[in-house]
Amino acid sequence: MSPTAKNKDCPSVKEIIALLKNPSNEDVAIIEKAYSFAKEAHEGQLRYSGEPYFCHLANVGETLASINIDALTVAAGLLHDTIEDCAILPRTIEKEFGKEVLTLVEGVTKLGKLKYRGVERHVESLRKFFVAMSRDVRVLLIKLADRLHNIQTLEYVPEAKRQRIALETLEIHARLADRFGMAKWKSILEDAAFPYAYPKEYEQVLAIIKHKRTTDEKYAEKIHRSIQKELAANGIKTARVDYRVKNLFSLWKKLARKEMDPDKVYDILAVRVIVKSVEDCYKALGIIHKHWRPVSGRIKDYIAVPKANGYRSLHTTIFRGDGGVIEIQIRTEEMHGEAQYGIASHLAYKEKNILKGETERNLAWVKELAKWQKEVAKSDEFMEHLHMDFFKDRVFVFTPKGDVIDLPEESSPIDFAYAIHSSIGDHVSGAKINNKLVSIETKLKNGDIVEIETKGSSSPKRKWLDYTKTTLAKRHIRAYLDKTNPIELFAQRFFGKKK
Ligand code: MN
Repeated sequence: MSPTAKNKDCPSVKEIIALLKNPSNEDVAIIEKAYSFAKEAHEGQLRYSGEPYFCHLANVGETLASINIDALTVAAGLLHDTIEDCAILPRTIEKEFGKEVLTLVEGVTKLGKLKYRGVERHVESLRKFFVAMSRDVRVLLIKLADRLHNIQTLEYVPEAKRQRIALETLEIHARLADRFGMAKWKSILEDAAFPYAYPKEYEQVLAIIKHKRTTDEKYAEKIHRSIQKELAANGIKTARVDYRVKNLFSLWKKLARKEMDPDKVYDILAVRVIVKSVEDCYKALGIIHKHWRPVSGRIKDYIAVPKANGYRSLHTTIFRGDGGVIEIQIRTEEMHGEAQYGIASHLAYKEKNILKGETERNLAWVKELAKWQKEVAKSDEFMEHLHMDFFKDRVFVFTPKGDVIDLPEESSPIDFAYAIHSSIGDHVSGAKINNKLVSIETKLKNGDIVEIETKGSSSPKRKWLDYTKTTLAKRHIRAYLDKTNPIELFAQRFFGKKK
């Protein structure tokens, strides 16, 4: 594990503010204040990528500003890790930024490290998040913006943690984004998590669609221009026509339902037609059907009957004339905004009192969930309902500073040491669990606080391979043995690898 510093974007406060539409002086002031407050609070902290921790906050702030949300939410996004990671007191946030910002920040702050441990803390944190979200849906937006940046920088996170984070992102965050109609964020979350959560399936999908996508893309390129021309000729002037490629994770889910046959999936590529009014949507549909024969049973009117998450559009699938078919989606600019950003587009464009009525339908679901999970007495039941099978066979242990390290069951302090850093793993001389000296063969249990003692003269031993569980640790141990033991290396070359 050698995280190399890579200079990713670290948006400036000017860039963040420039994304807001008509911000007031107060809006600008609170965002500037939150930006410098967070920068100072996170001073000296680094991300796994090696870049300043604060860049994470600047990115979250930028993401929130990009959906044109209110300034307080952007400020809360900039401050969202200050209580958890910088020991800033809640009352300081309240004093500097007001009660509303504090409520938002606290909604995404995990629970204290002392009261809860291991899985319990994780579940309680989730539970708390659901409750906070049900009170104010902006908490969800901050949490999703936070996860968007974390999942897009997952390559820097220690290998042992990656799959758990990726699966959690698919199971919880992408589903929430979907439930609230935020298709754009859902796709980004899913496609960033997919290769880490299901590496084999990811490769499989890539291989399956490689050829099909290039041919389809060529066709989409051609047909989207023909459609545009045809609409213009029929007096629908403001049509914007483009096409989108289905995101890989949804494609995999769909392929799995269609015997993995890409020819049975009609919307790998879809042409999008954006027009001025609802009336034009239906007109455009008629014009398209006049020129290209529609596939029967594939015409869907989600304008008259929107999907459960609020999605509206007309869908049809047409024969391309070469044996293939392609899906066409027709919608207005407003519907398009809603399809991309769902609930966030309501928060951004609607007056607050209208907002209340408009989002009640969406919020009902969260409220139900919050109410229901209160009734669920046991943590493990709650977990089960969230389909988090991946927590089985895992133990969650802690560094003395309270960082969670997630390991396979029956892991030892050596696995733990390598999960922190290879240089610690390579020099383990002893271990303490919950402040007691233990043998380095000890199996770790949920909630253990593990402290590793190192000595420069200590080095990996062959027998360590017997009591390590993670491939990360085994790989480092083998690499060390190979590197330092020429006889071993010689023997391996000629007699094959031992275990
Ligand atoms: Mn964060």
